[in-house]
Amino acid sequence: MGLRGCGHADVRLPSPLEEVNDEFLREHGVRLLLKRDDLISAEVPGNKWRKLHLNLQAAHEQGRSTLLTFGGAYSNHIRAVAAAGRACGFSTIGVIRGEGHRPLNWSLAYATEQGMRLEYLDRTTYRAKHMSEVIDGLRERFGDFYLLPEGGSNALAVRGCATIADEIDADFDALCCACGTGGTLAGLAARLSAGREAIGFSVLKGGGFLKEEVRRFQEDAGAVTGNWSIETGYHFGGFAKYPPELAAFIREFHARHGVLLERSYVAKMLAGVYDLAARGRFRRGGTVVALITGPPEGADDQNGGGRAAT
Ligand SMILES: *Cc1c(COP(=O)(O)O)cnc(C)c1O
Repeated sequence: MGLRGCGHADVRLPSPLEEVNDEFLREHGVRLLLKRDDLISAEVPGNKWRKLHLNLQAAHEQGRSTLLTFGGAYSNHIRAVAAAGRACGFSTIGVIRGEGHRPLNWSLAYATEQGMRLEYLDRTTYRAKHMSEVIDGLRERFGDFYLLPEGGSNALAVRGCATIADEIDADFDALCCACGTGGTLAGLAARLSAGREAIGFSVLKGGGFLKEEVRRFQEDAGAVTGNWSIETGYHFGGFAKYPPELAAFIREFHARHGVLLERSYVAKMLAGVYDLAARGRFRRGGTVVALITGPPEGADDQNGGGRAAT
């Protein structure tokens, strides 16, 4: 990616585009393509690489040697920053919501294996993490750092996601993705050509606030578009919730198509796509691209009780 000292990140772009041969969707007149961003890199997969790489470049250009960011105890973003920092030669500090526990859970253990230093903030202080008192306090303790927001969404992250649409060399009507912070949706919508739409699927209960967020991310990135919308009815009970019907969808999709879906974001989005197809939301004969923003997380593969990320 033209980032000096970043040769260890095994990044493969463009990510593959794969057609899903699905009878149910065919009956509803919809062709489905998967944009396999989960295969971009084993270390910094999916939209996390898309969102980080321009930030890493900026940090490097600003002469920063340390990245600091925020996240929950099972955060995909925290693991991605830890791995990207290691691959690209930055020290990393992860400021984690809540109290520390020993032994570390698998996600934080992975982050420390990548060399990340962990700090914990009580929930009240954590909620105020964007206030200058909190940031100044962190700078006093850790010195100068490049600050990445929780979830990694900022103007450079949004711009990093804009190239996703450019990579898709097929005709399509809609590009679908899961929304946590909405940064990915903001970016990929910014670059869609006329007549195409982006649809985000909130994985949070009460995702109505995302509309304002996505608009703000687009404003910050200087690319406001009116070609996107957000579905708020496919959170399956809320963030990190994993009800049996979602598990069944994942099992069935895996059995039929050989792709194991990540449960906190990707499976909810794709279940939403199937439901919208059944409801006639897409043009008959149209093509939908679903962005696979990440692979199943560590604990998914090992047992049924893996915890979800933030
Ligand atoms: C972080 C993450 C998202 C959320 O992306 P936003 O830009 O915050 O909306 C979606 N899918 C996966 C797999 C993620 O890890």
